[in-house]
Amino acid sequence: MTTKTATDLIYTAANAARILGKRFSNLVIEIWANVVYLHGSKISRFVSKTAFKQMFVEFRKAGAKALTVTANLFVPNTYKVRNETKGTAYDVLIIDRHITCGCEDYTAQYDAMGKGVCKHGYAVLNHLGYNCLADYLRA
Ligand SMILES: [Zn+2]
Repeated sequence: MTTKTATDLIYTAANAARILGKRFSNLVIEIWANVVYLHGSKISRFVSKTAFKQMFVEFRKAGAKALTVTANLFVPNTYKVRNETKGTAYDVLIIDRHITCGCEDYTAQYDAMGKGVCKHGYAVLNHLGYNCLADYLRA
């Protein structure tokens, strides 16, 4: 298979290795109907799709803790999310019960699923006192 889908871009071996650790850098990820098959020289394992996606969610939530959120006082529901260490900043907007961001991760999720929450989005949710998008939407 040569065509990369947006889902491939989210659940890449590079991203999985960032989460699991460098020793899994040669990981091959096969996304099947209900399971994900992870294999490489250090691992050969099936995990549920849900568990695999949750791993990425937890990774984004952990990444969100290092970010600084500033509300834009002049534009409602708009936030500047900074990574002081990397010197990067993204604008996060809450529009129609969606939390949008300009970063690559959000764009890949949106292209794949029509929705998504990146670590910048989780940082804004934390700033507002919520743990996840579902909690925010329920409130
Ligand atoms: Zn983002």
